[in-house]
Amino acid sequence: MTYIQIIILCTMIVYFFLNLLSFYLNLKNLKEEIPKGFEDYFDREKYKKSQKYIYENARLEIIEGLFSLSVFLIFWFVKGFGYLDKILSSLVAGEILRGIIYIGILIVAKSLLDLPFSLYSTFVIEEKFGFNKTSFKLYFSDKIKMLFISSLIGIPLIGLILVFFKYFGGFAWLFCWIVVTCFILAMQIIVPVWIMPFFNKFNPLEDGELKKKVMDYASANNFPLENVFVMDGSRRSQKSNAFFSGFGKTKRLVLFDTIIEKHSPDEIVSIVAHETGHYKKKHILISTFLGVIQAGVMFYLLSFFISFQDLFDAFYVERVSVYAGLVFFGFLYSPVDFFVSMIMLAFSRKNEYEADRFAVETTGNKKVFADTLKRLSADNYSNLSPHPLHVFFNYSHPPVSDRVKRIYDL
Ligand SMILES: [Zn+2]
Repeated sequence: MTYIQIIILCTMIVYFFLNLLSFYLNLKNLKEEIPKGFEDYFDREKYKKSQKYIYENARLEIIEGLFSLSVFLIFWFVKGFGYLDKILSSLVAGEILRGIIYIGILIVAKSLLDLPFSLYSTFVIEEKFGFNKTSFKLYFSDKIKMLFISSLIGIPLIGLILVFFKYFGGFAWLFCWIVVTCFILAMQIIVPVWIMPFFNKFNPLEDGELKKKVMDYASANNFPLENVFVMDGSRRSQKSNAFFSGFGKTKRLVLFDTIIEKHSPDEIVSIVAHETGHYKKKHILISTFLGVIQAGVMFYLLSFFISFQDLFDAFYVERVSVYAGLVFFGFLYSPVDFFVSMIMLAFSRKNEYEADRFAVETTGNKKVFADTLKRLSADNYSNLSPHPLHVFFNYSHPPVSDRVKRIYDL
């Protein structure tokens, strides 16, 4: 075994077992009794059902993790990466085109392996617990649209990265960084305005009590809010959500129709206030900026490893190529990625507390906002007592009980 193989193998196995441990502790941490303060939102039967939902999702994730890891290890050690490269080399002459096909095949294979788990999650678990609204037809039409859109965007992007590393020498990483930065910024506008309408209908929020309350809140807080949309989230799921997207003039607030169905206008204003908090505290902007910095660091490191012979030996590939270097670097980078994602999750949880504080300060109503969070978590069957290790590894939002406690501590 080579030292690169040992590094990658150890990272994957350690990550898998840490995740397994966090799931185990999380399930052990489920409490028999409904936590204090949540009695109005759960009866015994609903509480038991929510725990069963958490258990079934955890089981699926563990099985999926084990399956993906096994398939990856088998493919790697039967020298699959090398064979695929040999076959493509005999069929496609140009390195850039061959690279796009090589990466494309790996991505499609990974999606096909994930498909049964995604189907099980949607049509067995979500269905059984009453969340799923998606039909098979809608599910597969979504997948096909996604494949089409991601190819349209992904192929030129990967092509450009390969061209830079093939022909631009020492400054390739800088060109890649510039292109990816433009891409990240453009996506902020393209996703809500051009891509999301392929999947959902967005209608302006209708005039009435709710709109008036939302607009009154916005003007009382000096926050121009021109685009408030209602999205037909109920086409796919009963779960509810709300979010801001875009910057400046393209900024829009989106409320799922399920949120409007299940919450009072005052509760919805408190959700809008929380989302406004994210916007005012520049969380979206800062996260985007951090994403850009990460991309820069990654491309800079990539430039040292993209033609690194030991990396090709580790994956049993004879001929050095930029595309295979790109793929293998991705695996070598995974410990860094793991570490960075922990930091980003912690940052995100901190932002949630900040947005909560903003919501309470600007609406002046702790109880309404706390009740809204409780209702949201009950409706979505959130875990009321997740284990801290599981939160640390997986949660972008703090546990709802911690948020409610902080709200009353403010
Ligand atoms: Zn938030």
